[in-house]
Amino acid sequence: MKQKETLLTTPLKEEKMELSHLIIEEMGDEHKASSVETPLRNDAFDKTDDEKVAAIEPHFKAIMEILGLDLNDDSLKGTPLRVAKMYVKELFQGLNPANMPSMTLFENKFQYNEMLVEKNINFYTNCEHHFVPFFGKAHVAYISSGKVIGLSKLNRLVEYFSKRPQVQERLTMQIGKALQTIMQTQDVAVMMDAKHLCVSSRGVKDDSSNTITSFFGGQFQDEKVKLQFLKYIEIND
Ligand SMILES: [Zn+2]
Repeated sequence: MKQKETLLTTPLKEEKMELSHLIIEEMGDEHKASSVETPLRNDAFDKTDDEKVAAIEPHFKAIMEILGLDLNDDSLKGTPLRVAKMYVKELFQGLNPANMPSMTLFENKFQYNEMLVEKNINFYTNCEHHFVPFFGKAHVAYISSGKVIGLSKLNRLVEYFSKRPQVQERLTMQIGKALQTIMQTQDVAVMMDAKHLCVSSRGVKDDSSNTITSFFGGQFQDEKVKLQFLKYIEIND
């Protein structure tokens, strides 16, 4: 049952180039803000991560001081640096295309041409309007066009796009479109079901509502295929 691993770096060099080009173009320096792309400035990656941490720290400290907090307190002293590090190196690490996980494809040797669904992928991200978390489950599916991908890569792709300030609609579309590029097929579906802390813990304080967003490409726009996908993600929920 050993599959031949086709690393995008070696035999499929051209595809790799094309892929990174597409993805960098989608998110990178030249891009124009649109609803699908994360709005980034042209100088987004001029600073190193460490320079960003050093630059954010005093700003966060200022916010805390303006709120009236005493930064001499042992418990609060380290917070500005901790927050700065967390923003740059964890929560928003996916802003930088350099942190895109490598995507290993395999030959579809078994000729499995049915839908593959990876469901209940946990994700945590942050609302770009309030900088508080929203989180939930992502369900990702594709129909192979000749290549298959390691299942954990689907989780990693969801995680990568989650590590940005996000809106759920954009997050859903970014995962869908990236997967279409990676898998070289339009036949991709993504559904995300999330709780937004900016809705449940503040504002209208509704903690029972969930937000569901979806992306259906290629064959998944066909009602029958779409229903099959929806049926799969319902099982044992
Ligand atoms: Zn919000």
